Amino acid sequence: MEMRTEEQDSRVARLKAKVCENVDARRDELVSVSLDIHRNPEVAFTERHASGLLASHLRAAGHIVNHPAFGMETAIRCDIGPANLPCVGLVGEYDALPEIGHACGHNIIGTAAMGAALALADLGADLPGRVRFIGTPAEESGGGKIILARKGAFEGLDCAMMVHPADRNLPTFPIIARAAARAVFHGRPSHAAAGPEHGINALDALVTAYNAIAAWRQQLSHGCRIHAIITEGGVATNVIPERTVGEFVIRAPDRIMLEDMRARLNACLEAGALAAGASVDIAWDENDYHELVTNWPLAQAYRSNAERLGRNFDEMADQPFGFAASTDFGNVSHLVPAIHPMIQAMPRGTEFHTLDFARGAASDAGMDALVDSAKSMAMTAIDFMCDAKLRGAVAGDFVAGRKGR
Ligand SMILES: [Zn+2]
Ligand SMILES: [Zn+2]
Repeated sequence: MEMRTEEQDSRVARLKAKVCENVDARRDELVSVSLDIHRNPEVAFTERHASGLLASHLRAAGHIVNHPAFGMETAIRCDIGPANLPCVGLVGEYDALPEIGHACGHNIIGTAAMGAALALADLGADLPGRVRFIGTPAEESGGGKIILARKGAFEGLDCAMMVHPADRNLPTFPIIARAAARAVFHGRPSHAAAGPEHGINALDALVTAYNAIAAWRQQLSHGCRIHAIITEGGVATNVIPERTVGEFVIRAPDRIMLEDMRARLNACLEAGALAAGASVDIAWDENDYHELVTNWPLAQAYRSNAERLGRNFDEMADQPFGFAASTDFGNVSHLVPAIHPMIQAMPRGTEFHTLDFARGAASDAGMDALVDSAKSMAMTAIDFMCDAKLRGAVAGDFVAGRKGR
């Protein structure tokens, strides 16, 4: 038994060393792809250049690539390796933000996932499992992965991973649930001076609703958030507003708390309409973002591999109060065991969605993060493919995580 374990260990060590060599051999290629995507930022669902570039590199390496995939023009699917072995999903984002470009560093994410897939594929017959690279459009808005999930993009995976650039190395990220609504208030127009009593003021309805929300904030549970903006507030001061529109986002640590918030937000909106004698149409976005269920055995494997590359991790317990975001990868983590670690790609204190972050995403440190995240994911895939005990722990943690919900 002892002998076999040692043999197994040396095989894993050899494969890990090889995938790291494979990433290094492709370093120039990966950096050039990532910088090209960075120079040509594309927002949700329009990522034609980025997805085309990634697909062309996968094809050039001799792989069969679906692009478009799952009915989405800018999505990619590339399956590598034998179908009967454990299958690891490598998830790549590549959408940018309006105005500020790659201020979330998705040029690094998509290229790193492709780099890991190619490094594993370059093992040839030694690849001890199956890999699916999934190019996932529209993370920043649109919930691309939620749409892809409905089309079965994550079916058949035994686990899934993606790594996001940040200002620090973390084994996971506090990803909270999110839902969005748009409310249209309907009143009745009248002349604001000559006949205000004939009007029904849709702006009063919206402002009363807004104030009800503002008062509610005081009683919000820890970790809950609500955001509200007015996008239409009337058209002329001398007309009692007939129509107003507001947009609202709620966030909560989990989906159950999110449902409580949804009911309360509906009540606030209806109360505003009722008070003004107006009516309201509330439309909830059908693509709710779910909280991330971190698969800890897999996250721990990732962390050990990244530490082997010299990466020092922050502990989650030391993160600042309120440190949280939402992503459609949260939904993926409810379908398959999944991890979403963060890798340091820029100086500490650089905030997401800023021009500094966009600069960091094309910096030398950003490119080191690209290479290290590709290596860490590829090594973690090797662990998962070769270690039945790890696969058992990952599957057990996934079931336990779902029972808790
Ligand atoms: Zn972002
Ligand atoms: Zn992002």
